[in-house]
Amino acid sequence: MINPRVLLVEDEPGLRLTLTDRLASEGYTVETASDGETGLASASTGGYDVIVLDVMLPRINGFDVCRELRHRGVTTPILMLTARGQVVDKVVGLKLGADDYLTKPFETIELMARLEALLRRVPAAAQGGGDRYRFGDVAIDFRKMEVVRGGAPVDLSAREFKLLRHFIAHRGATLSRDALLADVWGYDEMPLTRTVDVHVAGLRQKIEANPKAPEYILTVHGLGYKFVG
Ligand code: CA
Repeated sequence: MINPRVLLVEDEPGLRLTLTDRLASEGYTVETASDGETGLASASTGGYDVIVLDVMLPRINGFDVCRELRHRGVTTPILMLTARGQVVDKVVGLKLGADDYLTKPFETIELMARLEALLRRVPAAAQGGGDRYRFGDVAIDFRKMEVVRGGAPVDLSAREFKLLRHFIAHRGATLSRDALLADVWGYDEMPLTRTVDVHVAGLRQKIEANPKAPEYILTVHGLGYKFVG
């Protein structure tokens, strides 16, 4: 994965700065939050590859952030940072849907190793790599760029395919029209956000049983779209 996006939720300024520098030097694109509420908001909409989440946070603690993210369908791998000796915390964290934990204080090299392991666990399909993905009666072969629905080939345009692949890679996350334009169209000068709506409508026609009552590409009113499947 090139330049994986990491969200670092940590309230200690010193540690936040140290980890940000180190992650950036290792090729990560780093975004930070210094309290649980901000972290939850960012993680819910972000499309991150991995989240580093401290347990003891102002406003909303790491456990509640983790639980709420999983409740919202966000499947991004989460590495929790626990205080020394909080064995119970580790168990609780994993039960709430965290993927791994690291006890403070830790060596940054250990954190890097854990993050790399978590990123390797992400299905290749979610990275847009050569693999397959299924939802409902739809099957996608990313390598061949083929989509089959109910056994019949579906004819997607290159843009529709790219849009669908992007939705799958960020499934569970709410994606704004502007973010989709930037990531799927890649324009610096934004064209009309209606472009996104037109392509989403086209995609729904092809992959949804009832495009007017979509099951997979959902409209999040006032925010954008979310893929669930
Ligand atoms: Ca803390």
